[in-house]
Amino acid sequence: MKHLLLIFSAIILFQPLRAQDKDSLMSTQLFGEALNSNVAYQQLFQLCSIAPGRLAGTPESAIAIDFMFNLMKSMPFDTVYKQPCMVRKWIRGNEEEAWFTTDGDNKTNINIDVLGGSVPTPEKGILAPVIVFSSIEEMQKANPATIKGKIVYFNRPMNQNYYITFRAYGENASMRVYGADEASKFGAIAVVVRSLNTATDTFPHTGIMRYKTSDVRIPGFAVSTADADVLDKAIAENPGLKIYLKCSCIEYAQVQSYNVIGEIKGSVFPARYISVGGHLDSWFNSSGAHDDGGGCIQSLEVARLFFVLGYKPQNTIRVVMFIDEEMEQRGGRAYANNAIANGEKHVFALESDRGVTTPTGFSIDASESVLQKMELWKKYFEAYGIRVFEKGGSGVDVGFLKQAGVPLAGLVTESQRYFEFHHSANDTWQNVNRREMQLGSAAMALLIYLVDQHGLDK
Ligand SMILES: [Zn+2]
Repeated sequence: MKHLLLIFSAIILFQPLRAQDKDSLMSTQLFGEALNSNVAYQQLFQLCSIAPGRLAGTPESAIAIDFMFNLMKSMPFDTVYKQPCMVRKWIRGNEEEAWFTTDGDNKTNINIDVLGGSVPTPEKGILAPVIVFSSIEEMQKANPATIKGKIVYFNRPMNQNYYITFRAYGENASMRVYGADEASKFGAIAVVVRSLNTATDTFPHTGIMRYKTSDVRIPGFAVSTADADVLDKAIAENPGLKIYLKCSCIEYAQVQSYNVIGEIKGSVFPARYISVGGHLDSWFNSSGAHDDGGGCIQSLEVARLFFVLGYKPQNTIRVVMFIDEEMEQRGGRAYANNAIANGEKHVFALESDRGVTTPTGFSIDASESVLQKMELWKKYFEAYGIRVFEKGGSGVDVGFLKQAGVPLAGLVTESQRYFEFHHSANDTWQNVNRREMQLGSAAMALLIYLVDQHGLDK
């Protein structure tokens, strides 16, 4: 009887698995390995510890690039290399100073950060009266004489009514990006924006600002939401109050930087590529755990999961750490330009850059038939809370591959907390949850595996 049982189970064991069973087994294995492992979480800790504030072109970014290169070299990738590109080198300089005064004697300090790409203030700083607007459009309707010589303060809180917080971010970001450029045309001498933060706290949130059409370049700053509330109250009581602002950022000549790339050579189609990545750079005020060290480490974890589970991909898998997403996206551009120039066939590219909170699904930038095919795979993700496969944008870096017709996707995560961290000193490793991040790693690995196994053609 015992022998019969053994023979019976041997027959079951050695029956070739149907494709569907194989895929569902892979799903269980990927999520199991990811959720039980501490490796990626510790790698993220290391990255955030040794290279916080790793804006492209800075010494910190060079440390991050070497760290990722050596980390990849320590893993069984077939090739690890750096892909050069020129990047802007803008440095924050000394920490900013800011306060307001209602009587010229008493000063109330406020927490501000300079915006990325800003010009510096004069060395002695700027002290000027303030005028408040809730949008660029509102400012443009104002009498220019009321703006001349003042600091324009764009004070519009993020709209809290939306479920997806990215929507509120999208609505407010133009004040940060173009506010100073527009205000200088009315004679303003600096711009302060309320931080794009859904919480009320003392962390200023920076981000890129751009000079587009103005002749005079004026500096831009972000004030924390808690300090913005204090300032609002003070302005309501003393409309004539003055704000002091000082920053010392410097723009240097462009320098060479790199994307860091690890390849697992395809066992069947070595000349077909599937890319997965995040961006390695982060803002000067941030250790860039959620944005986007976590996305980088999740991408690396895709490869580690394949190595550990002994999965040999059919297509060549490229794990890409893109540089310079925050400023000029030179890494993403260089990657796509190289792929196109070399005539590479890209099957698919995936990015994680929406914070490494709990994943909810994928945003897919591809044809209807690709979307339909991916939706058939939903069943392998649903047990882990990943249920949304919808058409939408992918990621800024992989987005440049769109011109080559490459199907793209971005990992979508729960957005309620993201803008409490985004572009601020609050974006720390401690604010990343290991399980949430690893659910994302496994989801990415599973999607890459399914594309590798079944392709994206009908
Ligand atoms: Zn990012």
